[in-house]
Amino acid sequence: MSTLISRGGVGEGGPAAGGRPPALWAAGSEAGLAALEQALAAVAGCWRSAAAARRGPYSGASPERLERLAAAVEVLPEEGRELSAVLEELGGLAIAHAVDPAHPHCAAHLHCAPLVAAVAADALVSAVNPSLDSWDQAPIAGHLEQRVVSELARLAGLPGGADGVFTSGGTQSNLMALLLARDAAAAAEGRTVAVDGLGPDAARHRILCSEAAHFTVQRSASLLGLGSAAVETVAVDGDMRMRCDDLDERLERLAAERLRPMALVATAGTTDFGSIDPLAELAARTRRHRMWLHVDASYGGGLLVSDRHRGLLDGLELADSVAVDFHKLLWQPIACGAFLVRDRAALAPLAVEVPYLNAPPEEPEGGGWRMPHLLGRSLSTSRRFDALKLLVSLHTIGRRRLGELVDRTLALTALAAELVGADPRLEPAHRPVLASLVFRYVPQPDRPQRSDRLNAAIRDRLLAEGRAVLGRTTLAGRTHLKLTLLNPAAGEGDIVELVDLVARTGAELETQP
Ligand SMILES: *Cc1c(COP(=O)(O)O)cnc(C)c1O
Repeated sequence: MSTLISRGGVGEGGPAAGGRPPALWAAGSEAGLAALEQALAAVAGCWRSAAAARRGPYSGASPERLERLAAAVEVLPEEGRELSAVLEELGGLAIAHAVDPAHPHCAAHLHCAPLVAAVAADALVSAVNPSLDSWDQAPIAGHLEQRVVSELARLAGLPGGADGVFTSGGTQSNLMALLLARDAAAAAEGRTVAVDGLGPDAARHRILCSEAAHFTVQRSASLLGLGSAAVETVAVDGDMRMRCDDLDERLERLAAERLRPMALVATAGTTDFGSIDPLAELAARTRRHRMWLHVDASYGGGLLVSDRHRGLLDGLELADSVAVDFHKLLWQPIACGAFLVRDRAALAPLAVEVPYLNAPPEEPEGGGWRMPHLLGRSLSTSRRFDALKLLVSLHTIGRRRLGELVDRTLALTALAAELVGADPRLEPAHRPVLASLVFRYVPQPDRPQRSDRLNAAIRDRLLAEGRAVLGRTTLAGRTHLKLTLLNPAAGEGDIVELVDLVARTGAELETQP
């Protein structure tokens, strides 16, 4: 047998290759595994040296400096070289100028430090690269994903007919929800949108969500041909929760205008404030008005594992669909999200059979296997086995302790709110519910422009110094700072230090001309 067609083949260091260079492929051979082991050790080494050079959560390098560093990287070298050397150079560059989400002062976004268990499971499964669009690319993966999805649906309190699929995150989950809601509303009017496209009635369809809902509600409406103008935003109360009285008024007005409110998106954990809409009260209204209730729990879904805070999600069990992200509160590497539906029949518009992916079995005499597949539930074709890292994390840490880690992030955020409230230089904008705190440095005198400039400058200064990565947002047109404290490994002292750092930086900047 020639080297080229033997198992191994090109690059596997067959007899003709002499000195046996490391294998190229991670799975399928002892040499591949050995190479992978070596590579993972090199990864750890690369992380260690790159991170050692950094004192805070970020190197502080400016966009101009990074542009120069990126411009100096050769993209398509003619010949390869050793992985360890490549990792040292390119991996080192990538890590040296990444933000470190595990640093207690990295607190800008819903951007978590991934669990060791999850990263390991991700690396493990990457080596065999299962793809969930057909059974024969991922035989066990689909069955396991379905087990995880069922358990999530049970945790969410959905009934036995519930179903779902893993997604790339809230963006995809929200799009799927509104797609199914759109198609269900059209089906009630006798139209199959998936085949016939939008009919004239679609122009009357409206989607409601709160002012604090995620922008992907509008983006989805736009992608679905309804237009972002089909989204009506409902006012929020002082705790940034959707106001039922405003919702009722709008529903009345829409009815008077003969428009059809077909879906309501409630948010369980708004991106900036972590606020949770009154789910049960909203569900009462969506049932009365025969609207689809989608709960965007991309952020707050993590509470499902918490004994102490699970009650904040009461009413979730009434949803027609739910989005949950595990790459936010539950410390999974991106991407890791799930989309759940109350009634699996609602997934029908996504059904698809393609002969080259999932041919039906030869029945009845052929005796072929009936191979279930998830292609007809997903908007993706090739799709990673993201459920495994969550499953491995759940086993390694256990539901109870994972819930305690969620509780800890909420407790640290409550502490931050207390500290901000107690510091005369700072002013909290709300009472935190989850792990987000929006606040502002209050200059003297407190003029709007001066406050906006100063708060923006605090965030910019700390980022440029690499000492803290803070969030920045606007509330009622005014610039605010935001802490998203997803890191349960942070100590109370880290939070004290962070709040003080913000206040001191504000004071310093204020005295500068
Ligand atoms: C993050 C977020 C999304 C978007 O999710 P991705 O996982 O980034 O696609 C949607 N809704 C809310 C409330 C979010 O916080």
